[in-house]
Amino acid sequence: MAKAKKITKNQIFRALGLKSKMKGANCGGEWFATSKDYLKTYSPTTGELLSTIEQTSPKDYDLVMKQAQAAFLEFRSMPAPLRGEIVRQVGEALRAKKDMLGALVSLEMGKIYTEGLGEVQEMIDICDFAVGMSRNLSGPTLQSERPKHRMMEQWHPLGVIGVISAFNFPVAVWAWNTALGWICGDSALWKPSSKTPLCAIACQNIVNEVFKANKLPEGISCVTVGSGRIVGEKLINDKNIPMVSFTGSTKMGKRIGGVVGERLGRTILELGGNNAVIISEKADLTGALASAFFGAVGTAGQRCTSTRRLIIQETVYDKFVKKLVANYKKVAIGDPLDPATLMGPLIDEGSVKDYENAIAAAKKQGGKVLYGGKVLKPFGAATFVQPTIIEIANKAEIVQHETFAPILYIMKYKKLPQAFKLHNDVPQGLSSAIYTDSVNEGEAFLSFLGSDCGIANINIGTSGAEIGGAFGGEKETGGGRESGSDAWKLYMRRQTNTINWGGEVHLAQGVEFKA
Ligand code: NAD
Repeated sequence: MAKAKKITKNQIFRALGLKSKMKGANCGGEWFATSKDYLKTYSPTTGELLSTIEQTSPKDYDLVMKQAQAAFLEFRSMPAPLRGEIVRQVGEALRAKKDMLGALVSLEMGKIYTEGLGEVQEMIDICDFAVGMSRNLSGPTLQSERPKHRMMEQWHPLGVIGVISAFNFPVAVWAWNTALGWICGDSALWKPSSKTPLCAIACQNIVNEVFKANKLPEGISCVTVGSGRIVGEKLINDKNIPMVSFTGSTKMGKRIGGVVGERLGRTILELGGNNAVIISEKADLTGALASAFFGAVGTAGQRCTSTRRLIIQETVYDKFVKKLVANYKKVAIGDPLDPATLMGPLIDEGSVKDYENAIAAAKKQGGKVLYGGKVLKPFGAATFVQPTIIEIANKAEIVQHETFAPILYIMKYKKLPQAFKLHNDVPQGLSSAIYTDSVNEGEAFLSFLGSDCGIANINIGTSGAEIGGAFGGEKETGGGRESGSDAWKLYMRRQTNTINWGGEVHLAQGVEFKA
C-alpha cells in the first residue's frame, strides 16, 4: 500500500484561510487590529516562522466587546433548540475540516496527528452533545408549603462569556465552552494562548461561515489574539463579562480567580494536575502498561491529565518497570505530522528548560533516572526531549509540582492505604486511576477514603477523558467543571419562581402580618 502523504503547511493554510500576515481581532466580519504589536508564531518542530499576527489593542478589545454585548441581546431571544441547530451546523463544519484542523493542531502545537484529529473529534462530540442538551436546559418543579402555590426553577442566558485557553488543547477547550455557551444563549469572547493563535483564527474562520449562512448578528463568536498582560488582563477585569472560563497553569489561575472574584464574577478554573496511577499486584499488568505508557508519553507529557506518577505495589514493581522502560526505548520521536512518530516536540525552548531543571532537581532530591533525561535536536531547534522515568519519593519537592513535560515519577507501596496516602499527598487533584482486578480495591479508590481528584478511574489511565462527563479537578486544579453532565449550568443564570394561583396571600414559615 502506498504511504500516506504528509499534509503540508501550505495545504493547511489554504484550507483554513490562514496567511503569513494576519490581524488578530474578529467578531464575525473582517479581521482587524490596530496595535502595531506583532506576535510571531513558530512551528515547535522545526522553528519555522508560520505567521505574524497583529495583536488586539485595548481599543480593539473594546470594539469587540461592544459587538459581543449587542449580539448577546439578540441571540438570547432565539429559542434554545434553534441555537442548538446552529451548533449542529458548527459540528458539521468541523467534520468537513477535521483533517486540516487536526493537522494545524499538530503543526502549531506539536501533538502527533492522531491526537490532533482526536482533539477535533472532541469538538465535534461536544457540539453533538450540546445539540441534544439544547432541548433539555431544564429546572425542577418544586412543592410549595403554601396552598395553591407552585415553585420552579428556570435557567436564563448569562451574557458574554470570556474564554482564556492554554496552548496544549488549542481548539477543544474553546469548543467545550462555546458549544455549551451558545446553546445557553451566550455570546463568547476568546483569548487564545499566544503560543497557538493560528488554531484560534482557523476555528473562528470555520464558525464565521456558519453564523453568516444563518444571517446571525456578528459578535456571537469573538476572538482577540493578544498577550495575557494586555488582552487577558482587560478581559478578566471586564465587568461586562459575568463568567470567565480559564484553562491554564495553577499560578495564573490563582491570579484570575482572585481578580474575577474581587468583582464577584463567576469563574470556571481548569488548572494544573499531578495525576497518578496506582498499580496493584492484583492488576492486569498488560493493560496497566498500555495505559501508563500513553498517559505519560502521549502529547509529550503536555496534557493536564498526563500521568505524572506511578505508585506500584512492591511485589510487581521490578517486573512492571522493566517492561515500561522497554516500551520507552521504542518511542519514535520526531515530526508530529509523520505517521510513524509517537512523540512530538515540547511547545518551546522554555518548556525544555523546565524539563531539564526538573530532572536536575529530582536528582538532587534523591531521584534516580531509569530512562531518558536528554534533550534531542532532530531538526536543529532544542524542543525535543526523551521521555523520562525517575524513581523517587513522593515527598520530594519536585514531585509535588506539575512539570509540563514527559517526566514520570515512580514509587513503591506495600499496602493499599499507603498507596492512597501517597496518591493524595500532592497539592493538585485532577485525574487519577487504579489498576486492579479486585472489586474491593477499586471501590475503595472511588470512595471517600480513596482518590481526592475530580476524575477517578478503574482500569483505564488518567489521560483521555470523554466529553460526556463533567471535566475538572479539586484542590489546586481549581474546582471548575466543564464539558458534559450538568456543566451547562455554569453558562446560565438560575432563577427560582414562586407562583400564587389561588389569590390569597400566604406568607412562608407561617408568618402572620395583617394590619
Ligand atoms: P498558562 O497559564 O501559561 O497560560 C494560559 C492562558 O493564560 C494563556 O492564554 C495565556 O495567554 C493567558 N494569560 C497569561 N497571562 C494572563 C493574564 N495576566 N491575564 C489573563 N490571561 C493570561 O498555561 P499554558 O502553559 O498555556 O498551559 C499549560 C497549563 O494549563 C498546565 O498547567 C496544564 O495543566 C493546564 N491545563 C489545564 C487543563 C484542565 O482542564 N485542568 C487543560 C489544559 C491545560
